[in-house]
Amino acid sequence: MSRPYNFSAGPAALPEAVLAQAQTEFMDWNGTGMSVMEMSHRGKDFTAIAQQAEADLRELLSIPKNYKVLFLQGGASAQFSVIPLNLLRGGTADYLDTGIWSQKAIAEAQRYGKINVVASGAADKYTTVPARETWQCNPNASYFHYTPNETINGVEIHDVPDVGDVPIVADFSSTILSRPIDVSKFGLIYAGAQKNIGPAGLVIVIIREDLIGHAQPDTPVMLDYKTHAEHDSMYNTPPTYSWYIAGLVFKWLKAQGGLNAMSALNQCKANTLYAAIDGSGGFYRNPIAIPYRSWMNVPFTLPAEALEKQFLQQATQAGLLNLAGHRIIGGMRASIYNAIPEHGVQELVQFMQAFQALHQSL
Ligand SMILES: *Cc1c(COP(=O)(O)O)cnc(C)c1O
Repeated sequence: MSRPYNFSAGPAALPEAVLAQAQTEFMDWNGTGMSVMEMSHRGKDFTAIAQQAEADLRELLSIPKNYKVLFLQGGASAQFSVIPLNLLRGGTADYLDTGIWSQKAIAEAQRYGKINVVASGAADKYTTVPARETWQCNPNASYFHYTPNETINGVEIHDVPDVGDVPIVADFSSTILSRPIDVSKFGLIYAGAQKNIGPAGLVIVIIREDLIGHAQPDTPVMLDYKTHAEHDSMYNTPPTYSWYIAGLVFKWLKAQGGLNAMSALNQCKANTLYAAIDGSGGFYRNPIAIPYRSWMNVPFTLPAEALEKQFLQQATQAGLLNLAGHRIIGGMRASIYNAIPEHGVQELVQFMQAFQALHQSL
């Protein structure tokens, strides 16, 4: 029996092959007689799993040698505090406001220092990103923070912004590994695992080494990047099982042809879905300016709110799950992360067309 397609924004679908492998290994990993969940994080078996996962991630993203990869806890949201605690260095920081997740990052950073919002999409209801020429950047900022993909609004910045020599900090939670990125352009990249990496409970931080070791003096030891960098993310017990599944996902991505292959596939999936929305004669609508439409999270509306319940019910019956939009935005949202195959998007489009044919003439 085939599984339904899960369009949840997060925790999100995992590749079926990864789930199947985890199932095979669940009771007995590699002849050890133990589940990975039962292993000491300092034992040689888990150490091998952890190191291999890091090596595969480094290979996938071509992470330069002068960057540390940290496997931490607290989700992307904890990083909203950890970043200013470690990187502000008594100075100020620049933040770009492109939607709900940037707003949360800004609100938290403001507790630790002076934050300059360089530009905001609020006036356009976050349907577009203010043009680069309008940003009020501070060349002396300790860092510049932005959210490459706004998971809730469905807004994506497809190129890395040029902010001169100021280190760029980016919340890649919902778009990491969907395409290649030039890590050397960033000071710090972070991503909660539950969208495109693996199970919730893990957040990955990729940080340039010279940015480590400058936390403000009263920073809790667990929130200091130095602590985790010096202990290979094993200062305390890391989220071992999530780390292991992430490693399986990295292996799976390599087997798919790496991030160039994922990029082509993801672009194709996104094009198929946006073309269906734009080609529906206004029955379905996506409000985002075309250059900033997200490849990963595609919000869309129906002509009447009264149709939404039916749409969701019938989609679920058709094996298309979790298409309800975020409670703040309403409408629908299809999250089409790496683990959603092209065929899943095609089935969604066919369903949307059939639903429209039934309801348009009413
Ligand atoms: C999901 C998400 C978060 C929050 O992640 P948590 O792990 O729940 O803290 C932050 N930023 C973005 C862009 C997200 O998509």
